[in-house]
Amino acid sequence: MPELPEVETSKRGITPHIINQPVCDVILRHTKLRWPIPQDLLTHIQNEKVISLERRAKYILINFSTGTLLIHLGMSGNLRICPLNSAPQKHDHADFIFTHCLLRFTDPRRFGAILWLGRHPESSSLLNKLGPEPLDDKFNSRYLYTLAKGRKIPVKQFIMDQKVVTGVGNIYATEALFMVGINPTRSAGNISLKRYQLLVEAIKEILTQAIKQGGTTLKDFVGSDGKPGYFQQTLHVYGKAGEECPNCETALKTVKLAARTTVYCPQCQK
Ligand SMILES: [Zn+2]
Repeated sequence: MPELPEVETSKRGITPHIINQPVCDVILRHTKLRWPIPQDLLTHIQNEKVISLERRAKYILINFSTGTLLIHLGMSGNLRICPLNSAPQKHDHADFIFTHCLLRFTDPRRFGAILWLGRHPESSSLLNKLGPEPLDDKFNSRYLYTLAKGRKIPVKQFIMDQKVVTGVGNIYATEALFMVGINPTRSAGNISLKRYQLLVEAIKEILTQAIKQGGTTLKDFVGSDGKPGYFQQTLHVYGKAGEECPNCETALKTVKLAARTTVYCPQCQK
């Protein structure tokens, strides 16, 4: 699943190709994604220039003077810049045609989304309940510690809650908890301010590194230039259940938290 670094990488990859460019046409081949693509999409953006691109959580927001287009990559989606008239493949559901290139949305599992948010995107139900961005200063140890007070849910589930902080997916939550030696099943309310400080720093560091390196290599993701990222080689515990802990050689264990498989070292993570 594309996580925050892949989405940020996609946004950065496509931006120079479409910024300040007008949309000539939109071709929709399959409109039944997670939610239907609005049929009147073209009327909002035809001949309108892309003013800016942003990422909020795992959403890419493409801003026009007429409003904001939201793209979500879902489980398996990707965005690529292709030459004009590139022949579509089976899962290429939408093309945004610009004068020199096209922006192609591909999504084999169709859990992604393309939605028109109009002029007040921040009031959209998808965006208005989101917590701070993990790389923003608002996401800090005091914030997490205060919010966690009295909460019994496992800390991993807590930091993956989009209302707490956006875009910390399974890979990065698993890795960050390992880096700071916190057991993922520990209650969120039972962690000191000092440990939250370490955790916040680890989350920021790991996401920054992943963005730098172009996102993780997961089978469904390719960068907007078609090259896969290569962060996965540097993962310590994610996807390594049963292997030895890189610190202490204890066999790594798994536990299911909120239906997500979590790998951890029972020796190093307390
Ligand atoms: Zn260990």
